[in-house]
Amino acid sequence: MNYPRVTPEDVARLRRAIGDKHVSTGESNLGLHSKDESYHQPHRPDVVVWPQTTEDVVAVVKIAAEKGYAVTPWCAGTSLEGNPIPVHGGIVLDFNEMARIIEIREKDLQVDVEVGIQYRELNNQLRHYGLFFPPDPGAWASLGGMIGNNASGVRTVAYGATRDCILGMEVVMADGAVIHLGSRAIKSSSGYDLLRLMVGSEGTLGIVTRATLRLKGLPPEYLTVVATFPAVHGACAAVSDCIRYGLNPAALELMDDAVVAEINRDQKMDLAEKPMLFLEFHNVNQSALESQYEMVEAVLQEHGALHIEKGVGADERARLWEVRHGALESIKRNHPGQSVLLVDTCVPISCYAQMVDRAKEEVVGEGATGFFWGHAGDGNLHLGLLFDPADEEAKAAVQRVNRAVVEHSIGIGGTCTGEHGIGVGKLAFMEGEHGTALEYMRRIKRALDPQGILNPGKMLPGQ
Ligand SMILES: Cc1cc2nc3c(=O)[nH]c(=O)nc-3n(C[C@H](O)[C@H](O)[C@H](O)COP(=O)(O)OP(=O)(O)OC[C@H]3O[C@@H](n4cnc5c(N)ncnc54)[C@H](O)[C@@H]3O)c2cc1C
Repeated sequence: MNYPRVTPEDVARLRRAIGDKHVSTGESNLGLHSKDESYHQPHRPDVVVWPQTTEDVVAVVKIAAEKGYAVTPWCAGTSLEGNPIPVHGGIVLDFNEMARIIEIREKDLQVDVEVGIQYRELNNQLRHYGLFFPPDPGAWASLGGMIGNNASGVRTVAYGATRDCILGMEVVMADGAVIHLGSRAIKSSSGYDLLRLMVGSEGTLGIVTRATLRLKGLPPEYLTVVATFPAVHGACAAVSDCIRYGLNPAALELMDDAVVAEINRDQKMDLAEKPMLFLEFHNVNQSALESQYEMVEAVLQEHGALHIEKGVGADERARLWEVRHGALESIKRNHPGQSVLLVDTCVPISCYAQMVDRAKEEVVGEGATGFFWGHAGDGNLHLGLLFDPADEEAKAAVQRVNRAVVEHSIGIGGTCTGEHGIGVGKLAFMEGEHGTALEYMRRIKRALDPQGILNPGKMLPGQ
């Protein structure tokens, strides 16, 4: 489809409707909103708008609908598959100035927010109430983008992904109508589940302005376990058994020796450069954690753990999670001028070791440089593939690895993306994963956004 450029007259209308200082066609703002954190081709929008209210969003969408302009919602731009890149230009709606906490209902473990709030800032506020919002993608992501991508994180193995933690939403639809989805009840059998349809739709079905989030109480006691293994295969096999034996980890993360070495180099750490599992357990008291630990230790030893360290203190625990979250950034900083294609797949937990072995074969077969890590407890693998962006053959080689690993994952009952979404990077796998169901997804898109103005070029191939 062709999308018109936003005319100077319509930029002037946007300025009148939203306020001059909340609309920009400045080069640096267009540049900042042309790319995310991925290696995908940037594309500039024609204009960036910072709405202050839901009414502002309605006004922008109505102008876009009248003229057929593309509208792409934007939060922190930390996506990894080109999800917020405005590939058809038009208007970017940046939610950074709609970032209020509207109401905390402590006794119901709920909070209402505007979607521009960053989850880390939200959790800083919530900790004063002994509460937290569990999904933690690690980057400085905001709620709108987490909803857009159905983000998850290191604690998803225990607490679920963003979709599991959303109770309600205010959404501006493609015709400018404002709808309210969900309720404050924690379960419901009422109506089609549009709420969960919106989560993970990457701004292609509606623009979320507010959300009611389901919170958890901060755990009274924590235990962290770090285990090293002689080879990645043993670590992966231990993951499956930790889940199968009901050990209930609150986090279960894998890093291979190459990732640990990158972290040591960049973040001045002194971790053993071996394949490693990070585990965290939450419980009501220390003795319950001790009993849990005995079983965990037995499973890790059964799979050949070389060294197991438990109970690192609160500061050390925070530091370990910080370095784990910084893995991708460390790789990027250690290799200036290189790009990273980040493979993100997810398979049934029993197939995790098999998928990692297969991915290693593909990396070696292409002579590529690959770094393996991921939310192993969910069956979610991240494989960072380093390449020189100026070298077309090197880029083609890492793309072949990506394709082989993703297709293998789909073939063994998994999915092309555990958490990063489709964006532009995974479009090619939608047919293979969803088959005939893809046509029904297209029908949903046509029903909700008949002009195709909401974040076009994403989610559905050829759209
Ligand atoms: C170092 C690093 C580590 C990461 N680790 C993880 C991880 O562990 N788990 C994980 O899930 N992700 C991870 N990510 C990816 C990314 O952080 C998440 O996908 C995050 O949720 C994106 O949020 P954002 O605010 O940056 O959204 P953006 O990138 O701005 O947008 C994401 C998508 O949501 C849409 N969107 C934005 N606002 C709205 C709205 N108001 N209404 C409807 N749609 C909207 C956008 O159009 C886009 O399609 C990581 C990224 C980096 C750089």
